[in-house]
This record gives sequence, C-alpha cells and structure tokens, in this order.
Amino acid sequence: MKRILITGGAGFIGSHLCERLMAENHEILCVDNYFTGRRHNVAHLMSQASFELMRHDVTFPLYVETDEIYNLACPASPMHYQFDPVQTTKTSVHGAINMLGLAKRTRSKILQASTSEVYGDPDVHPQVEGYNGNVNPIGPRACYDEGKRCAETLFFDYHRQHNLRIKVGRIFNTYGPRMLPNDGRVVSNFIVQALNGDDITIYGDGSQTRSFCYVDDLVDALIRLMGSADAFTGPVNLGNPSEATILELAELIIKMTKSRSKIVNKALPQDDPVRRRPDISLAKEALDWEPQVCLEHGLEKTVHYFKSLATT
Ligand code: NAD
Ligand code: UDP
Repeated sequence: MKRILITGGAGFIGSHLCERLMAENHEILCVDNYFTGRRHNVAHLMSQASFELMRHDVTFPLYVETDEIYNLACPASPMHYQFDPVQTTKTSVHGAINMLGLAKRTRSKILQASTSEVYGDPDVHPQVEGYNGNVNPIGPRACYDEGKRCAETLFFDYHRQHNLRIKVGRIFNTYGPRMLPNDGRVVSNFIVQALNGDDITIYGDGSQTRSFCYVDDLVDALIRLMGSADAFTGPVNLGNPSEATILELAELIIKMTKSRSKIVNKALPQDDPVRRRPDISLAKEALDWEPQVCLEHGLEKTVHYFKSLATT
C-alpha cells in the first residue's frame, strides 16, 4: 500500500484516478480547491478509511507525507483557465514548485499532468515529443500553455539538480463522465446541446481537428507512467491517435443522440490550434500502452452520464 497524493483529485480526470488507485488498495490523499472540481465526484469514496479529501490550493505549500504524487491541479477548459489567467499561471508554476518541494522532502516520485498545449498551434503533425512547439506567449491561451511549459522546465530541473524521480505525461483531449456540463469543452458542450435540442455551436468552420481519448484509457496510461522504470521520465504523449474534425464530432453526436439540434457556426477563438494528433509510438514502446476505447463507444458512455444528470 502506497500513500498517494492526487492534486486536482476532485476534478474530471482526478476523480477517475482516485477511484482506480483506491481499487488497487492504496491510501489516497485527494487535494483540491474546488475551482472546477466537485466534492460530489469523490463522494462515493469518502466512507473508506483509506481515502482523505482536503481543501487546499496548490499555490500554497503543503506539508504531508507521501510516496507518490500525481500533480493534476489546474483547470483544463479554455473557458475556465481564461477566467482568472494570473491564477492559472500561478497554479501551474507555484503549484509545481510546491509539489516538487514536497516530493524532494519526502523523496516521493512525482508525475506532472502536462498537455498537448505545450505544442501550441503545431506545425509538425502528428505531434512527436521532440517537437518544441509553436506557442504564442502573449495570447489568451498562454496562461495555460506557458504555465504548463514552465512546469515541465521545473520538473526537469528538479530531476537534474536534485535527482528527483519525475514523470511528465503530455495529455491530449480527454473526455468522459464527470466533465462539467457547462465547462465549455467541445465534447460536453455538444452532448448537452444535443440532448437539450439546442443549437450545436461549432467555432469556425469545424475543419479543425482533435483526437479524443476516453478517460479510462488515459487513467490507465497515467498509472503505467507512474509505474515505469525510474530512468523513464518522459515527456510522453498520452492520447488517442484517431483524429476527427470538430464537424465530424458534431455530426456523430447528433446521430448518436438522435437529436434535432441544428449546427450553427460561431467565431473561432484566437490561437485555436488547427490540427492536433499525438504520435504515441513512445507510449506504446515504453509503457506498453495504447487506447482501447473507440470514440463511438466512449461517447455512448458519456452521453449516458449526461442523460443521468438530467434525470437526477
Ligand atoms: P478539471 O478542471 O476537471 O480538473 C482540475 C482540478 O484541479 C479541479 O478539480 C480543480 O478544482 C483543481 N484545481 C484547479 N486549480 C487548483 C489549485 N490552485 N489548487 C488545487 N486544486 C486546483 O480538468 P481535467 O480535465 O480533469 O484535467 C486534469 C489535469 O489534466 C489538468 O492539469 C489538465 O491541465 C490536464 N489535462 C487535461 C486534458 C483534458 O483533455 N481533460 C488535456 C490535457 C491536460
Ligand atoms: N469548440 C467548438 N464548439 C464548442 C466548444 C469548442 O467548436 O462549443 C472547438 C474549439 O474551438 C476547438 C475544439 O472544439 O477547436 C476543442 O475545444 P476544447 O475547448 O474542447 O479543447 P481545446 O481547444 O483545448 O483542445
């Protein structure tokens, strides 16, 4: 049994990770400031003695004892990370410094939930880990992109300077149950709009692409990454390489929900990446991992979740 700290553990991915690690009989300390996370997401774990939930903002130091740290704290939806951009950068940068300091004191292994956004609007396709990216450092997405890039820098400097055992996973668009219905990300937006019969809002002409990974696959990748040999630090791309345009996603969700919703086009946000698809050769080789859940199957489960919210 390990003592595992999960920051951002009451959020979408974090709550699934808590669940999986609890099932493996570890002791879990879930830390969250509830900006986009909800206590409700982990309520079903709270009756177990090996689960502890703590309200804490990672921009402040934390003194606890741990063996492993998964650092997930940070809003992931553009709408939320742009709401208070200064706090977003602080969460990534001060949060990383605080969690790395904790890992150094406790000699814990620490994993950073990094992102495909470190590649910005990429001019290499599909994205490989060796590509250094194309990020606008002063645009509206920069608080997130540059915050996450700086966090990666800090992880590698702690590794080189203090011999810390680090793992950096670059997560590509992930979806599934427990996304917030109003968090502005494309999968939750389209499903909620389709179920309500509202217009499906495509930003731009819908020709931009993303590659969507179901949350169970992603959680599996994070656990494999944490368990990999100490010499393997990453960065490693974690995502589903099957790529779709946003228009194709909208059409699929309309078909699956048998919705009467109409597609409408809205302005494309500034710096919205045009194409995104992970090259996952490294994850396949180093973690023996590749996604198992296809988009249609993952969307079915996610639609089911949003339907259940509507009836509760
Ligand atoms: P989420 O918004 O559901 O989860 C983030 C969690 O962090 C929330 O519970 C939030 O309340 C918490 N949090 C935010 N600021 C905090 C702070 N200062 N102190 C403590 N807790 C704080 O998002 P998610 O999709 O579950 O993302 C989890 C992690 O994975 C994030 O770091 C995100 O950047 C990364 N990621 C996610 C995706 C994706 O597609 N979901 C893609 C790339 C990277
Ligand atoms: N998007 C859209 N309609 C929406 C929400 C998002 O067309 O209602 C687009 C958005 O412009 C982007 C893609 O869908 O091109 C993915 O957006 P999301 O916010 O989910 O993630 P990210 O841009 O961070 O990949």
